[in-house]
Amino acid sequence: MWVWIIGCKKNYLRSLIILLFIFILSCSKKTLSLYHRSQFLMGTVVEIKIVCDDETIAGEAIDQAFTKMREIERIMSAKDPKSMVSRINNESALHEIVIPPSLVEVIDTCLSYSADTEGAFDISIGSITKLWDFHQETPILPSEESVRLARKRVNYKWIELDKEKSSLSLKREGMSLDLGAVAKGYSIDQAACVLKRFGISAGIINAGGDLMLFGQKPGNGPWNIGIQHPRKKNSLIENLRITDKAIVTSGDYERYFIINNKRYHHILDPGTGWPAWGCQSVSIIAPSAMIADIIATAVFVLGPEKGMKYIERSSLIEGMIIDSAGKKYYSTGWKQDAAFQNLRE
Ligand code: AMP
Ligand code: MG
Repeated sequence: MWVWIIGCKKNYLRSLIILLFIFILSCSKKTLSLYHRSQFLMGTVVEIKIVCDDETIAGEAIDQAFTKMREIERIMSAKDPKSMVSRINNESALHEIVIPPSLVEVIDTCLSYSADTEGAFDISIGSITKLWDFHQETPILPSEESVRLARKRVNYKWIELDKEKSSLSLKREGMSLDLGAVAKGYSIDQAACVLKRFGISAGIINAGGDLMLFGQKPGNGPWNIGIQHPRKKNSLIENLRITDKAIVTSGDYERYFIINNKRYHHILDPGTGWPAWGCQSVSIIAPSAMIADIIATAVFVLGPEKGMKYIERSSLIEGMIIDSAGKKYYSTGWKQDAAFQNLRE
């Protein structure tokens, strides 16, 4: 009898301890949820998706990340007449202009990639991009003469950046900067920094198909993403699973018009002044979205052969090129890096 009572007490105590343990665990471990919001920024829909266990922190982190992106847009947009870049374009051929640290960082990086790609990437392309309007109902081609004259004002070597003084001047009258090939990538990187400062360890920043992915999605797996098919609207050409990387695509389907069966688009070859014809799209995977953005544009201009050689030079970069005939080329490490899944048509 005594033995039974002691046995019961023991079981009762054990159950009580287990229940207490579960209670403590459920109090300390909040559940992880996915929070997401979108805003229209830099001419595209930007979506931020994060994994977090606190709704208030998640909301604040996303808000601050968007604020950072908007701040960068206000500095770097060539379309906003009040932006710093517009001020540079209006004044810096006349005198030196003091610029904010973010612009020093971006322009300095761009200049080193211009030198590295022998001018295929060139942010002084502004005088030519101004000749194109891809939003017009009836598209108009710029004249050969206007392109020839504008091209005379394009050369990254005439951008004089003084990092010590945080100042810049343009060495030719009529020169114009256009950061359209890099600003989106830079602002994605900066938004990711803001999220991480809030302690967010997993998320996606998607700016119109240019992405930064970090951490694991709920359920502990890498994020799944798709790459837009360059010739079939709303259809994907690749499905990938990656994390802790950026992936950025430059395509001739983003801003374009067709005249006499020829596709005129927004990625320009500084050497000719006309659109670069060698590729339909270039996707680059890199640790930074700014670097991926720069290299995607540069490789598009370099074309499939030179472009792939350029990608293969760095072990930190992977890339997929779709040439003008629709043929795909992959860098050596692309498939390992991208846990790739090809969508056969
Ligand atoms: P992305 O979509 O990143 O390839 O950027 C294309 C945008 O970058 C264009 O709309 C122009 O504003 C600008 N751009 C075009 N061609 C070049 C080039 N060769 N180098 C640098 N920026 C360029
Ligand atoms: Mg780019």
